[in-house]
Amino acid sequence: MTQISEIRCPHCSTWTMWQGHIDDRCINCGEFLETRRFSREVEKRINKQLKAEYDYFSIKPGDTPFRRLFKFSFNTVRWSMYYVQLVIFTFVTILIFVISLLAG
Ligand SMILES: [Zn+2]
Repeated sequence: MTQISEIRCPHCSTWTMWQGHIDDRCINCGEFLETRRFSREVEKRINKQLKAEYDYFSIKPGDTPFRRLFKFSFNTVRWSMYYVQLVIFTFVTILIFVISLLAG
């Protein structure tokens, strides 16, 4: 069911058509009419994806010891990779900061 109503755009304050969809845009300025609801929806979708990805290698009660070990090692490697990336990023940031201090 599509219900069309008129609402005032939160960005440019002109009256615009609103169909109740989260991705409805203002006909005047083209901005999303429900920015907060839209970003919340995107956030929800991303969280769901993350959770699904995490659950993929989650250890289940019915798993064999070998399977458990495999999943545990895989998850450890994955998290290690994440931290290694974080350390490299931090290191590069500090390096750039030091270089800019030396140059200035
Ligand atoms: Zn607008």
